[in-house]
Amino acid sequence: MPFLDLPPWILSLFLAPFGLMIGSFCNVLIHRLPQEAPEDRNVVTKASHCPSCKAKIKPWHNVPLFGWLWLRGKCAACGWRIPARYPLVELLGGLVLGGAHWLFPFGTLIWVKAVICAYALLVLFFTDLTEMILPDVLQFPLMALGVLFALPQLAWPEALLKAWGRGDTLIQALAFHNGLQPGPAYRGFEPTVTWQASLLGLAIGYGAPALLNQIYKWIRKTDGLGMGDFKMLAWLGAFWGWGPMLGILFLGAGLGAAVGLPLMLTRRSGGQTMLPFGCFLALATPIVVFFGRALWLGYLGVVG
Ligand SMILES: [Zn+2]
Repeated sequence: MPFLDLPPWILSLFLAPFGLMIGSFCNVLIHRLPQEAPEDRNVVTKASHCPSCKAKIKPWHNVPLFGWLWLRGKCAACGWRIPARYPLVELLGGLVLGGAHWLFPFGTLIWVKAVICAYALLVLFFTDLTEMILPDVLQFPLMALGVLFALPQLAWPEALLKAWGRGDTLIQALAFHNGLQPGPAYRGFEPTVTWQASLLGLAIGYGAPALLNQIYKWIRKTDGLGMGDFKMLAWLGAFWGWGPMLGILFLGAGLGAAVGLPLMLTRRSGGQTMLPFGCFLALATPIVVFFGRALWLGYLGVVG
């Protein structure tokens, strides 16, 4: 496949514009999926419009990133200040597709998986931050997808694909490699996420926090976590296996506590402050995917 012999920076230039467009679609999902009326949740056929004055957005104003710069961050019709979130999500969308093959060999299963996971986390981070909602319509398909990703390894354990490694060397990567912690230059992959680890991740991801929540309910008589958080852990478990999923849960809880405890103390709200826990899970995921094993070994070193 000669296309794959392209040096990585050319691939970045080619892929980044598509990433910006996906980022633009992520903005549509972030705005529309949490809406209450079903017709407002239409993300497929409804044309882009200003959330403030409902005016249709002209195509050249809808160009990712540049439209916002051209309009200086204001709606052309009503002057509504477009939140910085819009160009930020577009930019991150561009970085995901333009940058993923520097960390995961282009065209391999783990590259596809990482890209889908990154866009899903981008959308869920902002729906949880703005509306405290993690939409089922995204999370249920992601659960199924996570398990499906583990299946090709059964049929094609040795299928090879060429990819560029560090120093412009052409290396061979397993096409259906499904492992964690890639790079630098695709060396040092961790073992594959097996279908067993994926299924266990799905089951424990949903079950463990549900159990914790039940205990919390008995003690505090209120929900500590929302159901959306369990579903998020379930698909993250299906994607990355049960071990890393637990790492994401504990790191996410730690980040949440680091932000939440000072808030609770200053607001005196009696511990009832609702935090968007999905945001912390989204932040914890790349840390665990890239550094989880190193962190775990470091932790064992401290304990033992
Ligand atoms: Zn407007």
